[in-house]
Amino acid sequence: MNDVRLDRRAFLGLGAGILGVALTPVWLRPAGRIHRLSVPVMGTIADLAVVDSDAGRARVALDAAAGELRHVEALMTRFVASSDVGRFNAAPMGTRVPVSHETAEVVRAAIGWARATGGAFDPTLEPVARLWDPAFVDRPPDRDVLRSAASESRGWTALEVQVRGDAAWLTRAPGTALDLGGIAKGWGIDRAADRLAGMGVASALVSVGGDLAALGAAPEGRPWRVGIRDPRDPEGIIRTVELTDGALATSGDYERWFEHDGVRYAHILDPKRAAPHRGVLRSVTVTAPRAVDADAAATAAFVLGHDAAIERFDGLAERPRIIHTA
Ligand code: AMP
Ligand code: MG
Repeated sequence: MNDVRLDRRAFLGLGAGILGVALTPVWLRPAGRIHRLSVPVMGTIADLAVVDSDAGRARVALDAAAGELRHVEALMTRFVASSDVGRFNAAPMGTRVPVSHETAEVVRAAIGWARATGGAFDPTLEPVARLWDPAFVDRPPDRDVLRSAASESRGWTALEVQVRGDAAWLTRAPGTALDLGGIAKGWGIDRAADRLAGMGVASALVSVGGDLAALGAAPEGRPWRVGIRDPRDPEGIIRTVELTDGALATSGDYERWFEHDGVRYAHILDPKRAAPHRGVLRSVTVTAPRAVDADAAATAAFVLGHDAAIERFDGLAERPRIIHTA
């Protein structure tokens, strides 16, 4: 952990290439009051900042918040066989798979977002995501492979969640395999921010790969100022947003992608086509009171497009609001 005097260049330097959003606090004068921790987690970098006059107390809080992020990753990653999601995806069809209460809650939230967005957000695209994952492939899969993956899946409507007391189960239906990659990061951010609040921290920022939650205001009661990264320039900030007690998430085609025959195939999928979404948006930024909702809403908005997303989001209790598109 570094107790650093913040300087704009240092913060932007950290953001470039790593974070979807670089943090640019306005107050650059008071030194030593902001304490930071950067850790690799959830396939990206978490950047945590706590404002506290006591460095030791801040360190304990930061470690606890980072622990929450690791905890959520361990439960919900699809890349590890022992996680809830890993076990679910490997279970025989038709079985009830016991999962943690938390995973069940995130799956419930994901189903809620699938319903609210007419299926543009779909947490069951894992079989399709695997075929297009920029980490493993550099060209579109064969048509036949794609067709069979798409036809096998009944999507999110086949997903069942049961919670009884402390126990929770998910039911594995044919063709359903979970991918919580569009929502779990936000859940982790909320968990980390809640943990900080529970430890008496009144002012903090929790950012994971560019999605973030602000706890309270920045020093001197000013809003936190965060920069939205330019989707075509890793060094560039296209817009600065002010935030007090709230969350912000950006989804775009610039995070993970491969190019084939001049076409960019990014990691956000269009459930209707079982293929990477291709539209006019390069990135969309959404705010909401909770990061779990901002995260899911941003992924959905990228697929829906600006106008359809605004229509879908209107009146939702989660209060997602599109604040920027590029
Ligand atoms: P995000 O960066 O939050 O927009 O999430 C992107 C990740 O969510 C991808 O890497 C996939 O794991 C997953 N995903 C891709 N397409 C969708 C979709 N249409 N609905 C829900 N999750 C998706
Ligand atoms: Mg998301």
